[in-house]
Amino acid sequence: MFWTGSMDGSFTVKSAYQLTQAQRNLANPLIDSWRWIWKLQCAERIRIFIWLVVHGRLLTNSIRVTRHMSSSPTCPRCNLSDETPIHLLRDCYYAQIIWGMLGFATTDFFTTELLSWLKKFSTPSRMSIHAGIPRALLFLSALWLLWKDRNALIFRNHQSRPQELCALIFQQAKYTMIALNPISRVPSRQHRWVSWIPPDAGWYKLNSDGSYSAARNSASAGGLIRDNSGSWVSGFTVNVGCTSILIAELWGLRDGLRLCQSLGLSRVIAEMDSLISVRLINENREPDNLTAAILLEIKTLMQGFDACILQHTLREGNSAADFLASLGHSTSPGLHIWDSPPSGLWTILEGDQMGVCFLR
Ligand SMILES: [Zn+2]
Repeated sequence: MFWTGSMDGSFTVKSAYQLTQAQRNLANPLIDSWRWIWKLQCAERIRIFIWLVVHGRLLTNSIRVTRHMSSSPTCPRCNLSDETPIHLLRDCYYAQIIWGMLGFATTDFFTTELLSWLKKFSTPSRMSIHAGIPRALLFLSALWLLWKDRNALIFRNHQSRPQELCALIFQQAKYTMIALNPISRVPSRQHRWVSWIPPDAGWYKLNSDGSYSAARNSASAGGLIRDNSGSWVSGFTVNVGCTSILIAELWGLRDGLRLCQSLGLSRVIAEMDSLISVRLINENREPDNLTAAILLEIKTLMQGFDACILQHTLREGNSAADFLASLGHSTSPGLHIWDSPPSGLWTILEGDQMGVCFLR
């Protein structure tokens, strides 16, 4: 007689136990497929939450309807789709903004079905680091807080701004990381959120930027004017030709100020990401021969408004102007005014209007 439960054919209690366990798992393969949840490196409440999602027990509106707990399956955030778990946690526009801000907006992120998606991005094999925090932990914290945020919207009518929610996700992931591994240290470098900030009522904001293409040995500039609601007022692109990036930056500012003047705007905040340009003007630095004329022109234009402030922003807060400056390379020489935004800019404008910010 030969015992098939062990390598050498001899019977042991251990091999008999292993055989029965293997048969149990074979009978119910899901038992094995759930095990990953309990191994996740995160807070216990998040593991339970993931278990509920995987088992179709998360009470989103699509599930509430089937249990006669709600009359509508629609997403309370966008009113465009049924509120299924994957819609709430990933596909709703708001979730997409959050994932983008957290650095997850890759093409493979939005394509897989719920279970593979959860497993793929939450398991330790994906333990790369983002801003000092394991990505898997950031992913899990984001899922949990998107759910809590959805409940705050429904039950308390509390609407979070994307940067508030992202800051909370980072904070929770950081605390969990320290709790799970007390010797881990968050890197000393301070990360900060950068976003476009609308001007106060009665003011207009001009964002301008310059761009240099080494391939074309050519520079261009561009910019746009928005009001305090973040709405488009006007914009421009300009193909400057063969010159330096500094001249292109100043060129963009000058043409932007001219546009503000021609529109009769009286209070203007001019913003650009070229620190050297801002300093040349605000600190009255001695110009060289190449920049003297355009600097004088800029200062004269600025004095023509009731109020005009020039300030520096980081590149992430100047994305729309950056887009237009790059577009300037492909337009005919000289100035081109845009009464409405060129296609391709809408996404950036909507993001700015909603306060989307970037981690720096
Ligand atoms: Zn939605």
